[in-house]
Amino acid sequence: MNTQQCLSCGASEGMVHFEGRGETLSVKGMERRVDDLSGWECQKCGEIELDEVCGQRYSDACDELVIASRKMIGNEMKKIRRKLHLTQKDTVQLLSGGGHNAFSRYERGEVLPPKALILLMRLLERYPYLLTDVKTFGEGADLRGFEHIVHKEHESLSVS
Ligand SMILES: [Zn+2]
Repeated sequence: MNTQQCLSCGASEGMVHFEGRGETLSVKGMERRVDDLSGWECQKCGEIELDEVCGQRYSDACDELVIASRKMIGNEMKKIRRKLHLTQKDTVQLLSGGGHNAFSRYERGEVLPPKALILLMRLLERYPYLLTDVKTFGEGADLRGFEHIVHKEHESLSVS
């Protein structure tokens, strides 16, 4: 039987079986092709349900792509930081905030940096002289408070 009811929109015989389909996944500008997929597609609402083995293959490919894109962003963050002659510690204090190893986790691709931080790094790569302004703004009393919070984090970490 090559048709079945769609559990999404309820169309009887809405789902039609397909085979040998290729899909291109795209994450943060990186692409990966997954070939030879089979499954069911609803002719009415477009719902797609991949066959089990393909579904696993498909989600593995998604996971790999997400990890690869985090690594790519991480390498970019590292490249820009070095261009700006900053240590990871400097970068946390000046730009990202967070725990002392926050930036190394971004660079290793363990965590995706917040979008605002990626944008900031890219801006500083293009206009490195703005780093002087960043340093000045960072000395404002209201922002010094953030350093204090980071400090407290350290203390509680070293106690436990
Ligand atoms: Zn449907």
